[in-house]
Amino acid sequence: MRATIALLPGDGIGPDVVREAVKALDAIAQRFGHQFEYRQALIGGCALDATGNSFPPETEQTVLAADAVLLGAVGGPKWDDPRAADRPERGLLALRKTLGVFANLRPVRPHPVVRDTTPLKPELVEGVDFVVIRELLGGLYFGQPSERRMGPAGREAVDTMFYSEPEIRRVLRLGFELARSRRKKLTSVDKANILATSRLWRELANELASEYPEVQLEHVLVDAAAMYLIQRPASFDVIVTENMFGDILTDEAAVLAGSMGMMPSASLAEPTNGGVRRGLYEPIHGSAPDIAGQEKANPIATIQSAALLLRYSLGLEAEARTIETAIDEVLAAGARTADLARPGEPVIGTKAMGDRIAAAIIRAR
Ligand code: NAD
Repeated sequence: MRATIALLPGDGIGPDVVREAVKALDAIAQRFGHQFEYRQALIGGCALDATGNSFPPETEQTVLAADAVLLGAVGGPKWDDPRAADRPERGLLALRKTLGVFANLRPVRPHPVVRDTTPLKPELVEGVDFVVIRELLGGLYFGQPSERRMGPAGREAVDTMFYSEPEIRRVLRLGFELARSRRKKLTSVDKANILATSRLWRELANELASEYPEVQLEHVLVDAAAMYLIQRPASFDVIVTENMFGDILTDEAAVLAGSMGMMPSASLAEPTNGGVRRGLYEPIHGSAPDIAGQEKANPIATIQSAALLLRYSLGLEAEARTIETAIDEVLAAGARTADLARPGEPVIGTKAMGDRIAAAIIRAR
């Protein structure tokens, strides 16, 4: 296969971890005889510095011409001025919108050997293997009006939670389809006792359920979902929810995976004719300016994101599994970056972790 992959390393540890994911992709290309062509472009703070725009037109062209996009992270204290007209995060929102990626998938499957890095009791994390799907292009993040203004009682502000039927339906459908390919359980999270958008969400979930009789659908209120994620995380298979609830619940779910450095994500657009989807793949962590360029970042979340890219945008399931198995093997052999190590355990750097995973891919049978 020939594929074009846009690389947007971004800021902070972004370049450190994307470099290691490219190593894993190169190893896959070598092992399976594929040709991946990389096109690198600027986004976020580095794009602001170079061009004055967090999402320059050249970057837009690069991502639109690519089969998939691999992103590091954006942001940092240098660009934190809240009064600035453009900010790194705007670049990220613009990128998502440009690609039409409406669903963010975050698999949570804590690796057995790093299970004791979670603050939860190890037996609670036993058997945890679920995916959260967060709606990404609607709700409070895009609804209008969203503004500050002067009212009769002084300063006031408003945000708007808006969802249309097609926006809800397409993300719910992805949830049902993913659940159908897994353990056939879909948890739809809403706040239907309070919010009109949630009542519409629940109604549409119930309507779609008749098309997927083999999938068991449950509705859980978002406050209860926050509790169950900690109390009984192994009971979930696929969770689907709107933008803001998903933003919060996925960070909570990340705690189960032991470290931010272990959580990948895939943001998917509508499928094309061939059934593959254009996608944006990135670790869920930020740019970690405190450890940038110091060989301290764990590249696994980004390498796992590259595996998701192979699975969802290129349809290369065996290759995706090869990366995942290589990560499991390297961790089982004792390799630990600082975020994964217990006190006194030896630690390796970003590049060494990437090298070991690439070597395990090449060795894979
Ligand atoms: P962060 O995720 O960057 O870091 C939180 C903590 O986790 C830090 O101590 C960091 O060192 C550690 N960490 C993160 N990734 C790690 C990795 N791969 N390996 C080892 N340790 C890791 O969150 P933050 O500090 O709140 O934000 C830093 C900057 O990143 C901010 O400018 C923020 O706006 C931005 N941010 C960007 C994204 C994104 O690009 N998608 C997401 C979140 C935050």
